Amino acid sequence: MSYPKKNMYTTGEKNAIVGGTLYLVATPIGNLADLSERALKVLSEVDFVAAEDTRNSGLLLSRFGISKPLISYFEHNKRERGGIIADRLEKGESCALITDAGTPAISDPGEDIVRLCAERGIPVTSIPGACAAITALTLSGLATGRFTFEGFLSGNKTDRRERFAELAEERRTMIFYEAPHHLRQTLADFLTHFGDRKITLCRELTKLNEEVFRTTVSQAIEEYKTRDPRGEYVLVVEGFTALSGVQDYPEDIAEHVAAFEAEGMSRMEAIKACAKKRGVPKSVVYDAVNK
Ligand code: SAM
Repeated sequence: MSYPKKNMYTTGEKNAIVGGTLYLVATPIGNLADLSERALKVLSEVDFVAAEDTRNSGLLLSRFGISKPLISYFEHNKRERGGIIADRLEKGESCALITDAGTPAISDPGEDIVRLCAERGIPVTSIPGACAAITALTLSGLATGRFTFEGFLSGNKTDRRERFAELAEERRTMIFYEAPHHLRQTLADFLTHFGDRKITLCRELTKLNEEVFRTTVSQAIEEYKTRDPRGEYVLVVEGFTALSGVQDYPEDIAEHVAAFEAEGMSRMEAIKACAKKRGVPKSVVYDAVNK
């Protein structure tokens, strides 16, 4: 790959704050030294900062000696606040959006305000920096050429089941965010739906207790039988391969259907899931369970 030698890096004019612009500013995911020089400049110079958690963000800004008017913008006020922020941007003010950690719009309400600005013709620019998903992927040791970001899995059983059905034969490396209190359940679900694949559990990235555990789903389950999940996790899971396809379900079709039913699926849902997993027509599974 060749890189342009001239004009590869821009400084100066590009860094001047432009009124009427929304700046998405990435903040550290644990290590304060990861806040970029440009992020600090933007945060110091915009008219106001919209933050997911004004208390946390106020602390972050004060660590860097920045004092700015803060407006809260989070999941439960994003409609009303999004409109107010967009009105102020249209009047020529500049705003930096920061979320709890990492890159705004990745698994946080940033996505909605970018859409709103796009609809209203308001310029948006991004000050890139830490993102837990990409940091984990790069450390995973798994294929990085093609990947899919899945964010948080739903807590709703039906949505979760549908998502797993969609992903069972996903060939790209998959990245999930997970809270510690859901880790054991999610690992158990991975084993059921994906089989015993490679997985890398990335915990407390960039922090003092950063841990990268490259293992398999079944070994991760073993590990967390005797250890309490703590801290923030990104789970990076190997994509489906022909090998994982033959290893991770019972030989017997009826037993395979029964395993899906035991998870709460109806008979028809279980037949469909089983057929998809085995790559055979539904009629084959239907006949096997009704013989
Ligand atoms: N916008 C953020 C980003 O760019 O990564 C993600 C926000 S999302 C609400 C928070 C989730 O990201 C956490 O529950 C965890 O799964 C993951 N995460 C954030 N910081 C992390 C860290 N230091 N180590 C591991 N996972 C982290």
